[in-house]
Amino acid sequence: GEGRGSGQRGRRRTSQRQSHGSPKSKASPRGASGRQCQRQQRGQGGQERSSGLSNPLVSLAPECPPLGLESLRVSDAQLRASSIQRYGLGAHRGRFNIQSGIHDGDMYDGGWCAAQKDQNQWLEIDARRPTRFTGVITQGLNSIWTYDWVTSYKIQFSNDTHSWQPCKNGSEEVVFPANKDPETPVLNAFPAPVVARYIRINPQTWFENGTICLRTEILGCPLPDPNNVYFWDNTPKTTDKLDFRHHNYKAMRQLMKKVNAECPNITRIYSIGKSYLGLKMVAMEISDNPGQHEVGEPEFRYVAGMHGNEALGRELLLNLMEYLCHEFEAGNPRVVRLVTETRIHLLPSMNPDGYETAYKLGSELSGWAMGRWTYENIDLNHNFADLNTALWDAEDNEMVPHKFPNHYIPIPEYYTFANATVAPETRAVIDWMQRFPFVLSANLHGGELVVTYPFDMTRTYWKGQELTPTADDPVFRWLATVYATTNLAMVDGDRRPCHCDDFAREGNIINGANWHTVPGKAVFSLLRALTSTLPPPPPPAFDGDYWRLLNPGEYEVTAKAEGYHPVTRWCRVSYEDNPTLCDFRLTKTPKQRLREILAKGGKIPKDLLLRLRQLRLRKLRRQRFPGHG
Ligand SMILES: [Zn+2]
Repeated sequence: GEGRGSGQRGRRRTSQRQSHGSPKSKASPRGASGRQCQRQQRGQGGQERSSGLSNPLVSLAPECPPLGLESLRVSDAQLRASSIQRYGLGAHRGRFNIQSGIHDGDMYDGGWCAAQKDQNQWLEIDARRPTRFTGVITQGLNSIWTYDWVTSYKIQFSNDTHSWQPCKNGSEEVVFPANKDPETPVLNAFPAPVVARYIRINPQTWFENGTICLRTEILGCPLPDPNNVYFWDNTPKTTDKLDFRHHNYKAMRQLMKKVNAECPNITRIYSIGKSYLGLKMVAMEISDNPGQHEVGEPEFRYVAGMHGNEALGRELLLNLMEYLCHEFEAGNPRVVRLVTETRIHLLPSMNPDGYETAYKLGSELSGWAMGRWTYENIDLNHNFADLNTALWDAEDNEMVPHKFPNHYIPIPEYYTFANATVAPETRAVIDWMQRFPFVLSANLHGGELVVTYPFDMTRTYWKGQELTPTADDPVFRWLATVYATTNLAMVDGDRRPCHCDDFAREGNIINGANWHTVPGKAVFSLLRALTSTLPPPPPPAFDGDYWRLLNPGEYEVTAKAEGYHPVTRWCRVSYEDNPTLCDFRLTKTPKQRLREILAKGGKIPKDLLLRLRQLRLRKLRRQRFPGHG
């Protein structure tokens, strides 16, 4: 979900919006795709496929799921082509929904392109075992350079790559109608399922000003291979008792209720607000005393699904809830410590409307952008107030930190206007941040495998990329590194890069702004909470505990409060897991004591009167003889 240029966004979104006349369809993903297929065939009027439709077996034949060109379950080695224009347009790029690079130097483009323009070109997929093929989905090339797509193709099957059988409807070889633009996916179901190991897409015609380029997903059900027991079932299995499947809104709510029922003592479900369409934005709190801020326990939050169609983060948070509940019950010491010593808040879906849109259309036919934005087409990742500009302006005018604090920056006035383009989902999260003194938070996206840390916006306004560290850079780099080095997929040195960005060189972490600038992003919460030593103005019953994330070391810390003398002391942050306590005892200034006594209507003690008189004299002396006293 990250790493895509805003320049392309508009174009892609437009093509998506045109491609779906009725995004509110209630049909299941598979059902919807079947209908789209049929609609298209009718539109072709009297072509080969129309006779297939009259066969009731076609519409009744259950479609198989995607083989996994998009998900990478099909590896690069399983993809071959008759010819390729260049390596960056190789067969391994012919994957459904793959994206082009956005930089001039990016060698990878979004699709497979043949070197020649003739009807002998093919893209071959080796399913590695007997597979019942039921259909093919294609898209054109995704590129910032050219428009290319295939308008029709034939399909061939093989078990040995030597003899090939054409896909036929009766006695006639089928020519499938394909794409009309680069993005809109077109699904063609075969007249009847065919069992084979290899399948080829053989383009027949293509966009008149272009060349042969496509991206594809194959629908197929793997069958047990009687000759090879090792390929009978290679889907990864887990022994964890977690609910590994996609959860739509209703299923998500049910799962959260189930976790709450299983672990009522350490969980609490609450709503932080409502989406534009009125879905509750539900969060799960996990703590040994749910519903209470406990002094000395930092509050942490994970937010997922701000891009509604990025399903991974949502599922990870749902799994995390289940995991924390089960492991706490089982007495796992690490989980017990997390639950008893922190207060964890998990928001699995910040954009529930977007998720439902994507879910109803189904992953194959909805395209990467469908459901990414809110119902109002707002990208929540850019929707928070830009606090950076105010901070940097103040810094340029030497107002920081005395006249303008570098923490807890006020929300700009324009942002609070009723007509400001602020999504209800964004407002809900801001209110949430103001109600809870979060010490640390992270957002989960789909897409690139990398940890980004603030700032996310470049300081030089005309630059698209620029290293823009915060004052807390060491601690953010440390936190990012901890995540990146514990994630097994990220540590894997052989993993496949999406584009030319090789994040592995930098330990899979990057300063957000040094990747691409995003004003109004997570930075917001950083400037509102993270760099602050003080949480937002405490609610009446709030027992102040003030948190500051620091790397191990010695720090000189000053505590200040209005009406008190400031105190400075050294605090040592250790390598231990537990937080370092650094207590301060502040004494009231004489003026503050006087103010409090007068407010109560009490009598002023002699010692205080004396002290105040001394202070006044000293002040007068200073005014008359500057440089003394
Ligand atoms: Zn995203």
